[in-house]
Amino acid sequence: MGAKPIGKWNFHERQKNGKGVISTWVEKSNFSPKSEARMDRAIDQLRQLPKTSWHKPHPASGIGDHIFVIRFTDVTNAQKRIFGHFNDSHECFVMTLDGYEKDDVYVPSNYKALALEHRGECEKDFFVNTRKYGNLCPLCEEQRNSSVARH
Ligand SMILES: [Zn+2]
Repeated sequence: MGAKPIGKWNFHERQKNGKGVISTWVEKSNFSPKSEARMDRAIDQLRQLPKTSWHKPHPASGIGDHIFVIRFTDVTNAQKRIFGHFNDSHECFVMTLDGYEKDDVYVPSNYKALALEHRGECEKDFFVNTRKYGNLCPLCEEQRNSSVARH
């Protein structure tokens, strides 16, 4: 088949006004180290999994239209959610929207419309409207290093 190895996703986040929306959310949420570790662990698990395994019992689910939601629980037992989509050419998952789930209902309630809208923006201008999440994109690191070397 010659298919590329699957898994090992890079992670990006949507960027707005020069800031990563998920990083900003994490900062503002003032998660305890333990809560943040839970989020990191969910992402770390998902990085290794092919798209077809992004469902329970793993910490993500497809919610239709190729939009996915990442799940983790903070130390107060709040059900945190991160919505996003895959960008295959950059081998990454782009996290675009934070939310939560309470009594089996997602908040914000228009999560799907928002996630689709964000995907449109991100796909239109990937390197303007998204950025690498933390150190989770070796592809971006390589590009940065090679452009630094050129100057
Ligand atoms: Zn990248």
